[in-house]
Amino acid sequence: MRTRVLVLGGSFAGMTAALSVRSRLGDEVEVTVVGASDRFVFNPSLIWLPFGRRGRTDVSFLLEPTFTRRGVRFVHASALRVDPDVHEVETTAGTFGYDYLVIATGYRNDLDAVPGLRDVPTITTLADAERTGDAWRRFLDEPGDVVIGATQRASCFGAAYEFLFTTSYQLRRAGLHGKVRLTYVTSEPYAGHFGIDGMPGARALMGMFARREGIEVVTGAQMSEIRTDAVELDDGTVLPYRFAMVVPPFHGQDFLAGTPGLVDAGGYVPVRPTYQTERWDDVYAVGIAAAVPVPWVTQVPVGIPKTGFPTEQQAHVAAAHVVAQVRGEAPSHEKEFADIPALCVMDAGNDGVAMVADRMLPPPRFAAMVPGPQNHLAKLAFEKYSIAKMRRGLVRLP
Ligand SMILES: Cc1cc2nc3c(=O)[nH]c(=O)nc-3n(C[C@H](O)[C@H](O)[C@H](O)COP(=O)(O)OP(=O)(O)OC[C@H]3O[C@@H](n4cnc5c(N)ncnc54)[C@H](O)[C@@H]3O)c2cc1C
Repeated sequence: MRTRVLVLGGSFAGMTAALSVRSRLGDEVEVTVVGASDRFVFNPSLIWLPFGRRGRTDVSFLLEPTFTRRGVRFVHASALRVDPDVHEVETTAGTFGYDYLVIATGYRNDLDAVPGLRDVPTITTLADAERTGDAWRRFLDEPGDVVIGATQRASCFGAAYEFLFTTSYQLRRAGLHGKVRLTYVTSEPYAGHFGIDGMPGARALMGMFARREGIEVVTGAQMSEIRTDAVELDDGTVLPYRFAMVVPPFHGQDFLAGTPGLVDAGGYVPVRPTYQTERWDDVYAVGIAAAVPVPWVTQVPVGIPKTGFPTEQQAHVAAAHVVAQVRGEAPSHEKEFADIPALCVMDAGNDGVAMVADRMLPPPRFAAMVPGPQNHLAKLAFEKYSIAKMRRGLVRLP
């Protein structure tokens, strides 16, 4: 019988792990991906959906043809329970056995973190970004103050900044810039913290961008309630809005908590530098599903952003390790999240910032932020390249 590799989740992490194992081992393995979504969604483009700059089919594609072409079976179903002791996963499409399991089920929005968070627009899923587009169009009919924010324990700060500066750009295009108040409210201790505390120059640069755009910035904010017309903070501050977009905290998928000893309090899977789980050698977790302990304390808690590049790197490390295990070779692939390089382009309407560091978590030996309109073009190129790469299943390309 061929070795069975089962991957849960078909996004950045799951697709990379599944196709990488399959391309290295060929017919030695039977690779199955069980995914709750039948589409790959390129999340970095969600910042543009509400403004009509992209549609659903521009930023997503069906997974099944890509997997089938590369010899991987795709099952459109949700995992319900993992039983590592009997090597089985129960799903909405039946029970699947495995020799190696890769958990790549990412995040869900934690919408109970603040009262009212459930009802305010966000952009952290495709459906949310589409709904936010409806809210933006209503706003254009009846403009007023705008609040863009990231709650306590949020981690996806890059998307919040991108959306903030893109909103500022879109206000200008709509002839509203300077006529309505635009506020950024964040749990970060300072603008430019990004949840990773340590990009040199980030604080000055984000401050400069905000001043240039006339954006009011409220940092260290703990939201107490989000009403349909205002964001309220713990210190009594009330920020009225006609249009708002708030990035919520993320949480691991709930079904994982059904396996004793698998996840931490945030629903994420603690892993070793090989991305094997702490307890089971044949169970891996990669991407957002893998736990990353926050190595600092801030007055208001913030999460660590788990972006696409480290996600794909983790999946490659795990895949190489699975390959070594299948072949009975000595395991040699290790890379902690903290040591993976950081590589990101932040869009800002018709401007942007490129961020590079030799490691995700401080202290970096090398780090640089380069602002300029060329980064907007770089982001567009990154989008086209990444979607084409994933659609063709060429996950071993950089
Ligand atoms: C708005 C936004 C903008 C971003 N911008 C950038 C950017 O500019 N650059 C960058 O590098 N990163 C960016 N990111 C981060 C990037 O999207 C993540 O790093 C990436 O999505 C992580 O991939 P993942 O596969 O770990 O998890 P996810 O993308 O969360 O995928 C998890 C997959 O698992 C599936 N799943 C969930 N539950 C189950 C279940 N029970 N059974 C089976 N399948 C399940 C889901 O359907 C999904 O397909 C952004 C994220 C967001 C939200």
